[in-house]
Amino acid sequence: MRISVVTIFPTYFSGPLDVGLIKRAIDAGILTVDLHDIRDHGLGKHRQVDDTPYGGGAGMVMRVEPLFATLEPLAGSHRVLMSPAGRPLDQATVDRLATVDHLTLVCGRYEGIDQRVIDACIDEEISIGDYVLAGGEAAALVVIEAVTRLLPGVVGNPDSVAHESFRDGLLEEPVYTKPAEYRGLRVPEVLLSGDHARIQAWREEQRRLRTRERRPDLWERFVAGSDS
Ligand code: SAH
Repeated sequence: MRISVVTIFPTYFSGPLDVGLIKRAIDAGILTVDLHDIRDHGLGKHRQVDDTPYGGGAGMVMRVEPLFATLEPLAGSHRVLMSPAGRPLDQATVDRLATVDHLTLVCGRYEGIDQRVIDACIDEEISIGDYVLAGGEAAALVVIEAVTRLLPGVVGNPDSVAHESFRDGLLEEPVYTKPAEYRGLRVPEVLLSGDHARIQAWREEQRRLRTRERRPDLWERFVAGSDS
């Protein structure tokens, strides 16, 4: 898979792309990430990429020319704008994006980008939640990380991405590892029992309890789904 990132801060990505699972995917040739600096197409001596908003108001807006110049060569890829006004990201969207051959993630800054860029050069807008970031870079990293762990060959045991929170509409159960007791804190007895049927039943119950308690929105959908 190839992911192109369009940003005024390409160095933002140096650290995160160079550790853990993403680094492994890049080293293995499963993932390619290329960074496109909008400022390379900035205007004039100062390589300007933003300007004051028409109609007045606070802040600056990213201009059309540098963004068109950066995005035109990426036509043919699936071009996603990171935006608080986009569709909220969820696991189903991540699953879909992980099947795309060439994904482009566009990072806004300031008050956002001129609407004409969105109309002409963007296929989809995605938000990572109902809060406002200073720029789309952190949001793009969220997408890159969530997508990368789904690419075949990246996570050693495919079961660990098949069985996890949100896959079937439930949160994951609590997990424990050694030692069985630490400062009086004990691992639930059932997990030490070796009784796989009981363990399975306990896990299932925990997933339901947690989801009902913590995410009534997910729980409602889960219950509605199992009825139909
Ligand atoms: N004035 C805009 C916010 C701009 S924030 C508004 O009120 O909607 C600057 C940039 O950060 C945006 O263009 C977008 O690329 C990114 N951004 C901010 N919050 C985001 C979010 N929740 N999800 C995805 N991208 C976000």
